[in-house]
Amino acid sequence: MNLADTPAEAQFRKELRTWLAEVLPTLPPPPDDPNDWPARRAYDMGWQARLHEAGYAGIAWPVEVGGRGATPAEELIFLEETERVGAPYVGCGFVGNLHAGPTIATVGTDEQKARWLPPILRGENVWCQGFSEPDAGSDLASLRTRAVRDGDDYVVTGHKIWTSHAQVSDFCELLVRTDPDAPKHRGITWLVMPMDTPGIELQPLQTLTGVSDFCETFLDGVRIPVANRVGDENDGWRVAMVTFSFERGTAFVSELLGTRRLVADLRAVAESHGVWASDVSVRRELATVTAELDAQWALTKRNVSKAQREGTPGVGGSVFKLAYHHTRTRLGELALRVLGRAGLALDDPLGVSPAGLDHVEQRLYALSLSIAAGTAQIQRNIVGERLLGLPKER
Ligand SMILES: Cc1cc2nc3c(=O)[nH]c(=O)nc-3n(C[C@H](O)[C@H](O)[C@H](O)COP(=O)(O)OP(=O)(O)OC[C@H]3O[C@@H](n4cnc5c(N)ncnc54)[C@H](O)[C@@H]3O)c2cc1C
Repeated sequence: MNLADTPAEAQFRKELRTWLAEVLPTLPPPPDDPNDWPARRAYDMGWQARLHEAGYAGIAWPVEVGGRGATPAEELIFLEETERVGAPYVGCGFVGNLHAGPTIATVGTDEQKARWLPPILRGENVWCQGFSEPDAGSDLASLRTRAVRDGDDYVVTGHKIWTSHAQVSDFCELLVRTDPDAPKHRGITWLVMPMDTPGIELQPLQTLTGVSDFCETFLDGVRIPVANRVGDENDGWRVAMVTFSFERGTAFVSELLGTRRLVADLRAVAESHGVWASDVSVRRELATVTAELDAQWALTKRNVSKAQREGTPGVGGSVFKLAYHHTRTRLGELALRVLGRAGLALDDPLGVSPAGLDHVEQRLYALSLSIAAGTAQIQRNIVGERLLGLPKER
């Protein structure tokens, strides 16, 4: 991959900058209350609709399914430029745009693509992910939510957990067990569940920062049409691997760029607290974190360019996620050192952050990076077995 902009890429960057400069001042302010989910949905989908009108929705999705079909370099320019000016992030559109949609675009039938993908791109539908269960997280293939075929429907009963954004979702990418007698990876099916179907009950779960980011999802005799099955019956594990390759592949890249702003802000806080001048170890640690983020950005470019060649992202995303989690932990620990007593409370009580960022909340949030989209230990297993060729876990 050539890291300098070609004339066409420079033009793409220029047009994007012009559009962002025009559109950002016209956006409403983001909702104040992080627990006001309808307002959060409206804000995130409003941004998605703007992207769609301007031809930037589904930046890396294939043109045949309504995406922009951007090259890897253009996708990274898009992420860089939107992050540079603090444009909204994908928010509630995370699952639809970053992994359910791309899975359907890769594995779905033409009819399924035509039905589900355009409303995601237009910002009309929010999707959630119903994979994890109380006894099936890392060992996802042990999932027990049962789907029994009845005519043209599957009748689904079970219990999902950690379903992010479920309370404002229209559809759920759902893994169910269709053959309880088959070996565990072979009896699973990937379904699309409309969230207004009778028999679905949601119970919000609160996180450490006081926000109900996810729900427990109880399913009791939920009828899902067979036409909503993506891939074959009992072939859902293969489809789920496609989902994971997108989820772990590039879905966290914008975060990396956002973290650069966090670093710049922490430096300003360290300067205003006097520790920047007085404590060489703070300067050294911030430089190390900066270098690690630069390396991860280079790794991202490599991963995205490989994904373009091979059709779906590979296990490079696991390396990225492991490294990124490590760096965010390091940065969070440094932030607490720099903040001193102010690090004991949320909400920046001393008003120390010039950019209004909450470094304590960010430190707490970083804890979830070792769990979400597959835990750090599971990513290590993947890297060990699939990249390094080490013996398989028994
Ligand atoms: C912010 C966030 C958002 C999420 N959103 C969703 C969502 O929208 N939809 C969804 O379905 N799920 C979601 N999840 C759930 C997530 O996928 C699971 O939490 C994750 O897969 C881990 O499963 P678990 O919590 O059951 O932990 P467990 O699997 O019980 O793991 C417990 C501990 O044991 C370790 N461990 C387990 N097996 C092994 C092994 N073989 N080798 C070494 N160590 C092992 C783990 O690494 C971990 O430290 C979300 C999680 C978070 C944190």
